[in-house]
Formats: sequence, C-alpha cells, structure tokens
Amino acid sequence: MNLIWLRNDLRLHDHPGFQLAQQQQQPVAVVYILPHSWLQPAELSLNRLAKAKARFLRACLIDLHRNLYLQNIPLQILYGDPVDLLSQWHQQQPFQLLTHSPQAPEESDWLQAIEQQGISTTTYDNQTLFSATQMAPLLSDWPASFSQFRRHVEKQLTVDISAAQKPVHLTNTGIEAPYITHVPWPTDFSSADNVRSFHLNGGESAGENWLTHYLWQSQSIRHYKDTRNQLVGQEYSSQLSAYLAWGCLSARKVWHAITAFEAVHGEDEHSYWLRFELLWREYFHWSMRVHGKRCFFYSALSGESLSAPALKTSHCSSWQAASTGMPVIDAGLRELKQTGFTSNRMRQWLASYFINELALDWRLGAQFFERYLIDYDVASNWGNWAYLAGVGHDPRGKPGAGRYFDLNKQLRRYDPQLSHIQQWLPELAECSVDDICAHQNGTTILANYPAPVQSLRS
Ligand SMILES: Cc1cc2nc3c(=O)[nH]c(=O)nc-3n(C[C@H](O)[C@H](O)[C@H](O)COP(=O)(O)OP(=O)(O)OC[C@H]3O[C@@H](n4cnc5c(N)ncnc54)[C@H](O)[C@@H]3O)c2cc1C
Repeated sequence: MNLIWLRNDLRLHDHPGFQLAQQQQQPVAVVYILPHSWLQPAELSLNRLAKAKARFLRACLIDLHRNLYLQNIPLQILYGDPVDLLSQWHQQQPFQLLTHSPQAPEESDWLQAIEQQGISTTTYDNQTLFSATQMAPLLSDWPASFSQFRRHVEKQLTVDISAAQKPVHLTNTGIEAPYITHVPWPTDFSSADNVRSFHLNGGESAGENWLTHYLWQSQSIRHYKDTRNQLVGQEYSSQLSAYLAWGCLSARKVWHAITAFEAVHGEDEHSYWLRFELLWREYFHWSMRVHGKRCFFYSALSGESLSAPALKTSHCSSWQAASTGMPVIDAGLRELKQTGFTSNRMRQWLASYFINELALDWRLGAQFFERYLIDYDVASNWGNWAYLAGVGHDPRGKPGAGRYFDLNKQLRRYDPQLSHIQQWLPELAECSVDDICAHQNGTTILANYPAPVQSLRS
C-alpha cells in the first residue's frame, strides 16, 4: 500500500503524490502529522505555532478531511515525532511512503531517518512552478541575483500546467493509523479570544473560491501593481500566500489562473507583476534547495564569516510585546500577532527596524515571523530576512549591511492618513503624521505613548 504523508501539500488538485498513487492503482492511506517540535519552546521561549497560524492550519485540515472523505479516504491526523510515528506504523503495516521533497533541513533530517528505518520513500515536488528537471542547469550554476534567474526562466522555461486540472480518484486501504493521538492545538478555537481573524479561511476549497473572486469577480488583479504596497484592506494584493504556503493551492494552478485571465483580458503590467512576484517565491525555493543549511547561518550566503550581535533582552521583550514605542512598528506587530498576516511593505519595515535599529540577530526576527505568519514558508521567510539583512541574494555594499528603510519617510509616503496606525493603535487616533514622525525620531515624545526603545537615526 502507499502512505501519503502530507506536510505543506494540503490539497487534491495538481498533487503529484495522489497522481502517483492513482497511477500505481495501489490502495492509499493519507496522514498529516503535527510535529511535536512545533509546540516546543525554542528561541526567545517561543514555539512555532501561534493561534492564528494554528487556526488557519486546522481549517486547511478540516477542508481536506472533507474532500478526502468524499472519496472514502480518511485523513489521519496525528501529533508527535514524525519519524517515530511513521516507523511504528510501518512495523505494523508495511507501506511505501510518498511525500514531498524536503525544503527545510529539519525535513531532510526526518526523511533521512525514515529511510534509515528501511521505509521505501518516493518524493515529489509540490510547491514550485518548475520541476527539478527543468531547473537542473540552474541548480548546478545558481544565479546570484533574482534578475538573472528571472531572465533565464522567462526565456527558457514554461510552467507545465497540464497536471493542474486533473482530478484524482483514489482507492481506500481501509487501514486506520495505529496511533491516533490527540492533537493539542494551542487554543480553544470556539471561545472568543483576542485573535482577530484574518478575513480568509484555510483550505483548498476556500483558496479556490478566493482565487476566483480575486481574479474574476472583483478583478482586483487589474490594480495589483499600483496597490501592492498598501497596508490596509483585503485586496490591495492577492493575499494568496497562505494558500500557497500550506499547498492548498499549487503555484502552477495560480499561474494558470493568471494566464487564463490574461487570455481574456490581455496581459498588462499588473498581471505580469503578480507572476513576477511568484517568480521571487520560486527563486527563494530553489535557492534553499541549493544552499541548504547555509540559509540559516548568521552569515547566510554572504561568503563572509560574520559574528551575530549580542542578544539585547530588553529590545527582544519590547518587540515580542509589540511595545517598542515606535507606532509604525507596534501597529505592524499587533496586526501580525492578531491576524497572522501583514503586508509585504510592513514586513520590510519590521525587518529593517529589527536589524538596523534594534541591532538584533536577523534570525530571531525570522523565527518570530515563523511563529506568527499564517503564510509561513521556510524559503520565502528566511530568504527575505537574509536579503534584508544584507547576507542573502543581491547583497548591496558590505556583507551584513542590511537594507535600510527610513520609517518616517516610508510612513509619509505609504500611510500619510495614518490609516494603518490608527486601525491597530486607536489610542493614537488624535495624532497627526508630524506628531508620529517627531515621536519616532525622538524629538518630541507623545504624552500618551511610550518613548521608542530605539528611535530612528536622524
Ligand atoms: C521579512 C519578510 C518575511 C516574509 N516571509 C514570508 C513567508 O513566510 N511566506 C510568504 O509566502 N511570503 C513571505 N514574505 C514575502 C511577502 O511579504 C508575502 O509573500 C506577501 O506579502 C503575501 O501577500 P500576498 O499573497 O498578498 O502577496 P502578493 O503581493 O499578492 O504576491 C503574490 C504571491 O507572490 C509571492 N511573493 C510575493 N512577494 C514575495 C517575496 N518578497 N518573496 C517571496 N514570495 C513573494 C507570494 O507567494 C505571494 O502570495 C516575506 C517578506 C518579508 C519582507
């Protein structure tokens, strides 16, 4: 029998694992394992599954459970150490494991340990637009900049969308997982708590509906390039990232949907730019495949031996509590902690403040995002953080000299009406942008807001 171990491929469409199982005409069982390591406190005493993220994941699993149930296949949801659980299961009922290729080093370690237990394993790629065969020439000579990568793939490669629409029909094994374990979700989802829900629900069905809505109903893609840097709203950007991160939507399906839209309405700068951003995602994914554990070192891809700065506990605590005294940052942190999402522009501001003003190790910032983001994606998250810290791709100037955002300038440009700040910090409803800027650079501290733990460089 085949056992499909799902991780961030929580869908039925365009799924190489399900397609393989179908071709082999073998009965199939399907499992999702919530790794217990995600709930162990790690750096800064944080675990990796905050409430909003857990809520989104749980909705993805409920939807998948329902869709598999329609094919008479139960989705088994376990909690524990993936290697132990799969080995124990294999001892009772041998199977061939089908699972997607590892992205993070942690996943490579799991797969290595599983193979050492004698479990025959076949892996497939589920997250990317291009296949490993298409990417082979680049993988052996990795382009140092995104532009080189983009030029190559735009000229040489096409996204194979033939698999994206094929339906799957599976045969149930009738076998239940021998170790049904209680999954200790980190919250009681039914009770009112202070998590303000992100406006989108998890799952393949919700993802497909949102994609159709965004492209065909509201047609918000038509203003994508003009609005993608905004901070407030539901459609300034596609907000497809969480569906892509958990694999509720395949990147190929999204690409295909954009090209279908272009076939009707014509390609323009907006539709092109959305595909352009999907290529950034692609670049980070394959880059992590090439560079592996280096992506998690302080020096990352810089080629230098840089030393991480000392931990400043008080700065870390203010950050974690979303009380840095910098309104622009606290508003972003509150949004992130409560909804699990924040815009790309805000992510850049947060990272810039963390790296350049608080002078903290960028990897702690990446871990903080990992805990909260509902669209946490190992390659995009660590790739963007390293990029902003000046140790990733496209370094500018000296390695380790991060990309700097002048937050007062940025605020005046992207939130001159203070819509974002006042949405998340209602206590500042009476302030003007000049008041906020004076507070943030330390010249005139607001009476009703704490002083910045670190004001902006003048
Ligand atoms: C410090 C930092 C950390 C980030 N962490 C993550 C993360 O964990 N997961 C994640 O999906 N994105 C991450 N991003 C990238 C980007 O901020 C989000 O993908 C985007 O904001 C999600 O909103 P959207 O779906 O509306 O994006 P859109 O603007 O609509 O873009 C469409 C899609 O393109 C991809 N994309 C867009 N921008 C980027 C980018 N800079 N890098 C990689 N892919 C991109 C995403 O899949 C996104 O869904 C991070 C960016 C920064 C600066």
